[in-house]
Amino acid sequence: MSVLEPELRPATTFWENVAAGQLTFQRCVQCNGVVFYPRVVCPLCGGVELRWEQSIGAGTIYSVSVRFPAEARNRSSCAWSTSTKGSG
Ligand SMILES: [Zn+2]
Repeated sequence: MSVLEPELRPATTFWENVAAGQLTFQRCVQCNGVVFYPRVVCPLCGGVELRWEQSIGAGTIYSVSVRFPAEARNRSSCAWSTSTKGSG
């Protein structure tokens, strides 16, 4: 009997792929759902076998946000942004 070991640091793998010039996401083997942001467990079914796939680099941006930490004195140096897009 084999035991599946979940990938414990999927964000590290994601950023390693980015450094190599690849935009990747996870796909759950159990339910075939797309998982993004990188996670240890599928949020759709609880499956722990998540495989990496490379995005084709196309999609639709649905939203973009820029966040400022409340304690930031110099807001221009402390902002970060996120975006949400469809998979593909
Ligand atoms: Zn799943």
